[in-house]
Amino acid sequence: MSFFKFSDVMRKRQTLSFEVYPPKTDRGMEKLPGTLEKIGKLNPDYISCTYGAGGSNVGKNREVLQMVRKITTPLTHLTCIGQTRDSVYQQLGQYLDEGVSNVLALRGDLPFGWTGTRGDFDHATDLVAFIRHEFGDKFEIAVAGTPGGHVECRSLEEDIAHLKQKQDLGADFILTQLCFDLDQFRTWLSRIRKAGVRIPVDAGIMPVVSKNAVLTQCLSHNACAIPRDLALVLTHHWFDTDPEGNEIPGVKEAFREEGLDYTVRLLHAYIAEGVDGIHLYAMNQYSNVAELLRRSGLRNIPAEP
Ligand code: FAD
Repeated sequence: MSFFKFSDVMRKRQTLSFEVYPPKTDRGMEKLPGTLEKIGKLNPDYISCTYGAGGSNVGKNREVLQMVRKITTPLTHLTCIGQTRDSVYQQLGQYLDEGVSNVLALRGDLPFGWTGTRGDFDHATDLVAFIRHEFGDKFEIAVAGTPGGHVECRSLEEDIAHLKQKQDLGADFILTQLCFDLDQFRTWLSRIRKAGVRIPVDAGIMPVVSKNAVLTQCLSHNACAIPRDLALVLTHHWFDTDPEGNEIPGVKEAFREEGLDYTVRLLHAYIAEGVDGIHLYAMNQYSNVAELLRRSGLRNIPAEP
């Protein structure tokens, strides 16, 4: 492999990376380069860009990756939903031509009512095998890991066996699903290591800044545990409208304040665990990640005005 690999860097030091998504609107796309420029100044090792299940936003995904390329190394997510061998082959070739050689190989979240991917690849394992078979070591491949266990899996043991399969088929590192429960994360990490999964683990961390975002992320697809200290943040700011349904001034801001402090503690706990990388779901928001890095002491940033 001629390019440097994040997994090699992670074996030497803890990396820091961010995740962004392709905005739905033209206005969002116009604003993104400015946001990325500021995010780039936080000196991330890489920035990843999500991929809409079914390739709904593939054009914008490629546009965003090119914006990222001006700032740091891009990593693209790629899913199996509705993909044929030809479509994946063609897209991977395009990524390489456009200077993107890091890919997170995912199955993808199944759209509502679907029971399978309706494509040539059923699982991320198939995608990893295909990329290695067709492109050799031209790509560094990341794969998802789910510390709480994937919702469709019958047991954590089985889930871990599939993760090991991803490694054996050629995955270079693991990017984890959000996990607010450190005990659960610790147990998972120790079990994957015992099962022979040796590749680095980059911990995905979601900044807690909005009640709805936390609830959606935890409950929509992931069945992610909400431990007591996070539940307290939610409870303290649960009522954000009055009986007439009007927004109560200041509640959202107070949630963000307490949520950021909670996330800083979580960040410190993950760092203390010695994870190989920290991956912040930046969600195209500079101020949240900047404030987190400032409060946690990870970057020297002036306070918010
Ligand atoms: P898989 O590894 O295929 O696992 C899905 C289920 O099948 C699990 O229960 C697993 O145990 C089981 N399984 C795995 N391999 C096999 C096999 N060979 N045979 C039988 N069973 C198997 N989704 C998007 O649509 N777009 C994104 O950009 C996106 N980004 C993400 C970023 C991160 C960091 C993470 C963690 C997830 C992201 N997702 C995204 C969500 C992800 O697509 C879902 O979590 C999805 O439900 C599972 O993806 P996977 O790659 O883990 O699937």
